[in-house]
Formats: sequence, structure tokens, C-alpha cells
Amino acid sequence: MLNKKLHLVSLGCTKNLVDSEVMLGKLSKYELSDEPSEADVIIVNTCGFIEQAKVESINTILTLHETRKPNSTLVVSGCLSERYRDELQRELPEIDIFTGVGDYDKIDEIVAQKRGATFSPEVYLANEHSQRVITGSNSHAYIKIAEGCNQNCAFCAIPSFKGRLHSRTLSSIEKEVRGLVAKGFYEFTFISQDSSSYGRDLGLKDGLVELIKLIETVEGVRVARILYLYPTTTSPQLIDTIANSKTFQTYYDMPIQHIDNKMLRVMKRGFGEEQTISLLNRMKSKDGAFIRTSIIVGHPHESEESFNRISNFLREFEFDRVNIFQYSNEESTDAFSMEQIPPEVVERRVNILERIVQETTLKSLKGMVGKDVAVILEGESDEHEYLLSARPILWAKEIDGDILINDTSDLPIKFGDIYRAKVTELVGNRLLATLI
Ligand code: SF4
Repeated sequence: MLNKKLHLVSLGCTKNLVDSEVMLGKLSKYELSDEPSEADVIIVNTCGFIEQAKVESINTILTLHETRKPNSTLVVSGCLSERYRDELQRELPEIDIFTGVGDYDKIDEIVAQKRGATFSPEVYLANEHSQRVITGSNSHAYIKIAEGCNQNCAFCAIPSFKGRLHSRTLSSIEKEVRGLVAKGFYEFTFISQDSSSYGRDLGLKDGLVELIKLIETVEGVRVARILYLYPTTTSPQLIDTIANSKTFQTYYDMPIQHIDNKMLRVMKRGFGEEQTISLLNRMKSKDGAFIRTSIIVGHPHESEESFNRISNFLREFEFDRVNIFQYSNEESTDAFSMEQIPPEVVERRVNILERIVQETTLKSLKGMVGKDVAVILEGESDEHEYLLSARPILWAKEIDGDILINDTSDLPIKFGDIYRAKVTELVGNRLLATLI
């Protein structure tokens, strides 16, 4: 068994990554291989929420099928498989095993069957017993606090295959974090589909506030942040609690998707322009706040006027980071049957917003020049041989970028440790800094 090799590809979001890490834990007897042509078992943990992600998942599956060695087992798991289980089994008979989002903790038994389809009705939620293999860092881990979602956004299919909101208990999360701290992890990013609704299904009114208070008592947690806040369940108290926390970064990730009142109504976001802006302004009033959001462009009913509203708002508000998503017409959503915006119009709008976001991101970077910041030294830079890559502790892993260290001041270097750095200059869209 020792020589059996496993190649796993985790697509999509960090929530999917946590599930992939659960599978790695369950298959720990396998030797991990970066080379699919050598693998005895290949797993593709797919993403299936928008067209682009679906295409990437299918292409990855087909490429791995072409590359794999004879008698190997190819497993397709995750959101695409859950959402299109019948179509995929019909159209991809070359795949050995199909499973969805309910059986990550049974993957060892499923793989042992060599062929078949397993789709449990429940959506799996990793917990303190999951024996995950944390990937990508020895100091940082994602903590999934809930699965599913009770919101009804008109464009979103996620509730149709991830189900209703299903939160872990506070003590389950605490135990997992304590277990990881004992293994040397000190930085945690708390994630779910709709994090600000955490605990509502358990009767908690402002569950995240309670979670923050609890995690602050866990010795060894040095840095923490929360991703995926939802406007209607993000309370002023939560915003203040995050800002006042010594452990949680003053980091606000709240996808707003749009700002125009009509569009927010059509998208069924629950909050209008005024309430959304009042939340954002409260966040911005916090010292050293970092604000990230996501915008959907080209949603049905988006007039030129509505589009101009979001363009102007992005210019005015100046988020630190913005993800721009092109609207994807998803069956089983309310927007699916609405009149669609012509693709050339959508593309033009995406280009306009991307240019605006480039400028506001650059402005956010410029604002850091001359500052002393705490950074996590992540490793050697992929871009430049003599430079190191570091991430300000305020920034989230992977999505907010990194800064380049071009002078270590002869300090002893230990990747994964926290250092002070002076940001010296901005070259293009890359910040340079000196360790101090
Ligand atoms: S909050 Fe809206 S966009 Fe996010 S998962 Fe729920 S329904 Fe989808």
C-alpha cells in the first residue's frame, strides 16, 4: 500500500480546499504525487457554481483521463459532480467513480470500490475529528464554520446543491483550532458560504461575535480573519467586534455584488443601496481597515444607468480589493428565466470595471509605501531569484497578493514566521519592502 500514489486536484474555493484536505487525511496511506501519469488514484474535487468554473472542471477531468496510467482509478467529487450527477455519469463513462459533497470522510472506502457512484443526501461538514492534511502552509489553516446557505440570491445555484445553512458548534470549531495550534499553526481564516449568518440555525443571533470572543481565548492564535460576510446579517456590532479584536485583523470581506437599488432588488440581496453603504462606511471608519468585495457584472435588468451607478461607486469608495465576476446564467436560479444582457455589452462592462479596480487597488497599494507593517515571510519569490515573498498579516492568503522583500537586514530567516517590514516602494503593482 505504501507505494500506491495519489494525485489530487482541488478546484474552486477555499471551502472545497478544506474538503480536499479531509480526503488527503483519509487517504494518508497513499504517497502524494504531483505527477498524474504515475498515480494509482486520481481525484478531481470539482467546482460547479458558474460556467467558467464548470468548464475548468471538465477540462481538468478530461486532461487527467488522457494522462492517467492504465488500471488507475479516476474519481470525480465535489460541486460539479453533485450538481450534474446524472449528466456526468451519462456523458463521461470513462470516469471510474463519481461522488458529490456528502462523502469526503468516506473517500477511502469509496476508492476501494474502484468503480461506482456514491451520493449521500447530507452535505459533509468538516469538523475537529476530520484529520485534515493542511496544505500550502505550516502556519495557516482555513476553518470551515458552516456549509450551505439560507439566502436566495437570484443568480446563485449554490443552495441548490449545498443545501440550507448548517453551522458547526462553537466548541467543535474551538477544538479544531486548539488541535491545530498544538501542531504549530497560528493563523486562521474562517470561511463558509455566508459567514455572517454563522450559528443562526443553532439559535445564535450574532454567532460570529461569539466565535470571535471564543477564539480570542485560544492561546497561540496570533492572526485570524473572516471571509464571506453577507450584508443583511453583518451587524454593526460584528463590524465593531472585528475592529476591536487583537487577534482578528480589521479585515472585511463582504461581497456586495452590486450597489444600485433596482439591481439589489432584482438580485434578491435583501439590502438596498443605503443600508449597504452604511455598513461599508462603518467598516471604512475603522483604523487600518482592509475592505474587499465582489461584483457581478451583466446580471439581467442591469441598465446602463445601473451600470454607471456601480462604476461610479467603485471609483468613489475605493475598495482595497474587488473581484469582478461576469454574470453566469445558471439553471435552477430565479435569474435564469430573465431576459439576458447581450454578451458583448457584458464584456465591455467587465473591461470598464476591471480598469477602475486596477486603479483603486493601485491606490490601496500606494497607501502602504513608507509604512511599517507586520508580515508573514512565506518563502522565496517565484518571480525574482533574489527576492523573498511576504504577506502583510492584514492580507488574506492567496487572494490579496504578496509583497517582495529585497533586503532582509541580515536577520535570521525562518519561513512562516512574522517579521516587521518597512514598505519602501511600489514598482508597477508590486510593493517592495525591507525587513526591520
Ligand atoms: S449568499 Fe447568495 S451568493 Fe452566496 S452562497 Fe448564498 S445564495 Fe449564493
